[in-house]
Amino acid sequence: MTDKEILQIFKREKALLAGHFLLSSGLHSPHYMQCALVLQSPPLAEKLCAALAREIPKTKIHTVIGPALGGMIVSYEMGRALKVRSIFAERENGAFALRRGFELKKNEKVLIVEDVVTTGKSTHEVAALVERSGAKVAAVAALVDRSGGTAIFQQEFYALLKIEIKTYRPEDCPLCREGKIPLKKPGSRTPARTR
Ligand SMILES: [Zn+2]
Repeated sequence: MTDKEILQIFKREKALLAGHFLLSSGLHSPHYMQCALVLQSPPLAEKLCAALAREIPKTKIHTVIGPALGGMIVSYEMGRALKVRSIFAERENGAFALRRGFELKKNEKVLIVEDVVTTGKSTHEVAALVERSGAKVAAVAALVDRSGGTAIFQQEFYALLKIEIKTYRPEDCPLCREGKIPLKKPGSRTPARTR
């Protein structure tokens, strides 16, 4: 799949919006991405994850793991594409843990997956969990890398789509300054109250 085809899917599913958005971080952005809106379609999730799986070299992977909640569907579909086990890590008292009887064996080769990598923080935390269990992180993968190259991992990082989503502090936001597009909080129907 080409970047253009992937972008078209995200736009068509309204998973990538253009406008003026108030992000949960408090920053403003001309774009908003909600990967869940693409992944709510199982055939699309399967198709995108199969395309991502094809980018990963044929190194042996025993298990795919994703951080809940965002990484769960991608982990499941990557497991399907690679025909291996798929598990997820959940936060327990603030830190990622393996629950529900999920286990990793010593030297088991693990692929960590995410829907969207923004800073890479969750991925790093899951990598630490995998290593603590004695397993090995074989590679890292995400459907979307929106880190602008700032997310750096010890292992190879594969992303199906790389896009830069600009963010601004409210006081520096050019869209606020222009005052043409009302600020919207994604997921709500009404314009967001400004500061
Ligand atoms: Zn703004």
